[in-house]
Amino acid sequence: MTVSQSLLSIKSQLPSGVRLVAVSKFHPASCIMEAYEAGQRLFGENRPQELASKAPQLPSDIEWHFIGHLQTNKLKLVLPYVALVESVDSLHLLEAINTWALAAGRRIPVLLELHLGAEETKHGLTEDEIIGILADGAMYPGIEFKGLMGMATNTDDEAVIEADFARIEGLFYRIRREFPALSETFNELSIGMSGDWPIALRHGATLIRIGTAIFGERQY
Ligand SMILES: *Cc1c(COP(=O)(O)O)cnc(C)c1O
Repeated sequence: MTVSQSLLSIKSQLPSGVRLVAVSKFHPASCIMEAYEAGQRLFGENRPQELASKAPQLPSDIEWHFIGHLQTNKLKLVLPYVALVESVDSLHLLEAINTWALAAGRRIPVLLELHLGAEETKHGLTEDEIIGILADGAMYPGIEFKGLMGMATNTDDEAVIEADFARIEGLFYRIRREFPALSETFNELSIGMSGDWPIALRHGATLIRIGTAIFGERQY
C-alpha cells in the first residue's frame, strides 16, 4: 500500500473524536508531503533536531506533536514548533517547560507520560507523581495540562497490552473525577501505535500515534 492508501485505510476505521498522529520520525519531508497531500495535518516527531530541521520547510498548517524523550537543553528546538508536547516524563522537564513558557509569554499544552509496562528503559512518571503534579497544578502557570500519554509493553501478548491500556484509562478517568477544575481541558488520552491501536480504541484513546503502519519501516 502507498502512504496515502495506508493513511486513509486507518482513518476510515477511527470513530469520531479520535485523531491520528502520523509519526514521521526517520522519514524524509517528501514522505510527510505525501501524507499531507492525502489530507493529513497532524504529525509526530521524537527527535528535537529532526523536528527543528523539518518543520520550517513544511507547510505551516501542519500541527506538530512532540512524542519523544526531551532533554531540557533542547527545548528551544521543539517548543517554538509544537502544538502539544505528548511526552512529559519527569518533573524536571515539566519545570523547565514552565520556565521557558513564562519567559516566552506562552502556555505550552502538554500530556503527562505514564510509565507503563516493565521495560526499565522506558521513560515516564508514576501514577503518584502525576497526581502530585496535578494537585500542585497552580505552580505551573506556563503549562496547560491536556491529558495523558502512554506506551504499552512491547509484546505480542494482547492481555498484557490490554492491562496496560486499562491502567492508563483508569487513571485518566480518576483524574477527571478528582480534579473537576481540569475536566474541561484534560481530555486527551494518547495510547496506541501501529501494533496495538485497535486495542487502544477500546480503552478510550483520543489520539493514536502511528508510524510504521503508514510510512513503512523507518528509513536512514
Ligand atoms: C515511534 C513511536 C510511535 C510510532 O510507532 P510505530 O510502531 O511505528 O507506529 C508512537 N509513539 C511513540 C512515542 C514513538 O516513539
